[in-house]
Amino acid sequence: MAFSAKTRKFLVAFLISGWSIALIYSALRAHPPKFPLKAKRLYHDNRLLMGTFWQVSSPNKQASGIVFSEASSIEQLLSKYIPASEISRLNRLGKLKVSADTFYIIKKSLEFYRQTQGAFDITVAPLVDLWGFTGQNFQKPGADKIRAVLELVGSDKIILHEKDNVVEFKLPGMKIDLGAIAKGFALDCAVKKLKENNIASCLINAGGQVYALGDNFGQSWKIAIQGARKPEITGILKLKNKSASTSGDYQQYFLRGNKRYGHILNPKTGYPAESGISSVTVIADSALEADALSTSVFVLGKEKAKALAMKFNNLEIKITE
Ligand code: AMP
Ligand code: MG
Repeated sequence: MAFSAKTRKFLVAFLISGWSIALIYSALRAHPPKFPLKAKRLYHDNRLLMGTFWQVSSPNKQASGIVFSEASSIEQLLSKYIPASEISRLNRLGKLKVSADTFYIIKKSLEFYRQTQGAFDITVAPLVDLWGFTGQNFQKPGADKIRAVLELVGSDKIILHEKDNVVEFKLPGMKIDLGAIAKGFALDCAVKKLKENNIASCLINAGGQVYALGDNFGQSWKIAIQGARKPEITGILKLKNKSASTSGDYQQYFLRGNKRYGHILNPKTGYPAESGISSVTVIADSALEADALSTSVFVLGKEKAKALAMKFNNLEIKITE
């Protein structure tokens, strides 16, 4: 078969390149590189926000900046520790026109109040103060003081004026505390911002409240669960587009004698919840739901948790007694 000089040149080039590709391929098979050819790099960053340590891991360098800036704006709106926040102003004034975000989270909190038969109740704020959990000046109050403060507790005493985003308390002295739901809300808002910026892979851990966006180079994100009483790993969760929230009495508590008083309060009794649970992790599609429900299950206990789980889709509850 005769080829023109031009065709001959092309065939030689084609064969050489084909041969070199085959050579590289067989060389790689014989001696696989120690590191993948394209580095699977995760960027890690952390920040103190909303009273806890936030850690962000993502293959995208911009992810942590987006997460921190979103969490910081939510903190400015919702933190009871920031005097100019909408929550602090509402707590001082008893009636306030608030932003759409603040109105939304208060409205969601009232839904959880109803769904949990009052176990989840943001109006516990005066009780949280009374027990000294706000300023870490812990004390065991007398029964009469608890009874008096309980008069101010009950989310049915919050009036929502839908048409102009006004929130109003029925009684003077009432206050709200979004500590059981705000981090979950901030996580969901951060994930929304990440998606808007076309970031599809990110793990956020906000002091025990986690959101796993997408996957970690094709694998689910893996999260270790720490024991409630001992610092050992008790399990590994594999998460993808899910949130896990843990509530317990192991981080914020004080001891009087041998008795442990935790920061999650039973709004019915006014005392720290004693449901026989030392730690509960709730896994849900939304971080807000996981956060609110882990606190609720801690108050309700194991048996009532089963009935509660039926009211929500795709909920997983892991309890340590
Ligand atoms: P978490 O760590 O998400 O379970 O939230 C606990 C925090 O929520 C506490 O430190 C209080 O600020 C607040 N809190 C305590 N008891 C309740 C309750 N029964 N319902 C709603 N919030 C609560
Ligand atoms: Mg919570």
